[in-house]
Amino acid sequence: MEKVILIKYGELTTKKGNRNLFIKILTKNIEEMLQNYDVNIIKNRVRMFIEVNDHKFEEVVNQLKKVFGLHSIVICERIESNDLEKIKKIAKTILEKKDFQTFKVVTDRADKTYPVKSMEVSRQVGGYLLKYLPGKKVDIHHPELMLSIEIRTEGTYFYTEEVEGCGGYPVGIQGKGMLMLSGGIDSPVAGYLALKRGVQIECIYFDSPPHTSIEAKNKVLKLASILNEYSGHIRVHIVPFTKLQEAIFKNCDPTYMITIMRRMMYRITERLARKRNCKIIVNGESIGQVASQTLTSMSVINEVTNMPVIRPLACMDKLEIIRMSEKIGTYETSILPFEDCCTIFVPKHPVIHPDLKKAREMEKTFDYETLIQECIKNVETISNFEEDTSDLL
Ligand code: ATP
Ligand code: MG
Repeated sequence: MEKVILIKYGELTTKKGNRNLFIKILTKNIEEMLQNYDVNIIKNRVRMFIEVNDHKFEEVVNQLKKVFGLHSIVICERIESNDLEKIKKIAKTILEKKDFQTFKVVTDRADKTYPVKSMEVSRQVGGYLLKYLPGKKVDIHHPELMLSIEIRTEGTYFYTEEVEGCGGYPVGIQGKGMLMLSGGIDSPVAGYLALKRGVQIECIYFDSPPHTSIEAKNKVLKLASILNEYSGHIRVHIVPFTKLQEAIFKNCDPTYMITIMRRMMYRITERLARKRNCKIIVNGESIGQVASQTLTSMSVINEVTNMPVIRPLACMDKLEIIRMSEKIGTYETSILPFEDCCTIFVPKHPVIHPDLKKAREMEKTFDYETLIQECIKNVETISNFEEDTSDLL
């Protein structure tokens, strides 16, 4: 009997045509995630098995919990036999060590040439357990312990517990998106949700020194490094936004400053996205959260781009977002008190229902195009998050 990890794929079953691609990308992502462990990955169309040669099962499972595309992760026992008498004995050995009163046996006979049908295997194993484990009872509907048995050509697998995976699609299966990443609570969660749908992300951050601090920038890098734990390959493009932001401050009506500033951010994000072969923009906007996220504001701001803007948090409550940021590990960093450019340049009374014509008129009063080009020319890109980033903050 030996321990092995069994992986159940995520939403794969509903996407039959993409099965091979799904498995291929998932395997690559798992290999990358487990590159520091001595493992063998064996896969077929419905399951994947991971042999952990250095026996660091707990660590490997923890790593796998961060891979999108996994429905569940199971540490199971394997024997290289399909012999029913052996199966019964192993079942007893496994259950002897567990604390429970009621149980149920479920069998999956992937090897259809196996002479005994699944139900019959469960019935026989159940009967054997009742006989040799006195005091235990079968409960079909609400068992305290469920023993799963999978009979495959190469052997038989047994398990009693499944660890939930984070679901979704393997990162990269949907191409790339450009995430507008600020230091707040929302945008890292938006990035996580995009990754979960299989979108690889690159990040863009608008930096306005000296109005914003080096700590604010490092906070964004730290958040990116946390997202990088889920996917690898994250890049952050830092846009030197100061001059453009000061020009907006100087030339535009204070109530429209945020509207115009966000129109500029969208313009720059789109251009960089196209340059980096990203198909969509992703951001942390949520309907009604602040003045720039009313439906009117969103439409006036969105008017500058044709690229799809995906807002994973659009319909979520702040509390739900906070809960999710705690779960994914970004909350503690997000609440550090360093302010980004949106908070520092916020006017006292930002317009809640901006007028598109007015916004366009204000933009005509200065040469923003040259400033945008300068921003793009001077972007600084950071791409290596493999190293320890604990010294960032
Ligand atoms: P967050 O909590 O993510 O900072 P927020 O509620 O503070 O969001 P806004 O400041 O209006 O909302 O920003 C809305 C979205 O715009 C952010 O979620 C983020 O995607 C993007 N954004 C805002 N500021 C920046 C910035 N300095 N650099 C990059 N993206 C930004
Ligand atoms: Mg913000």
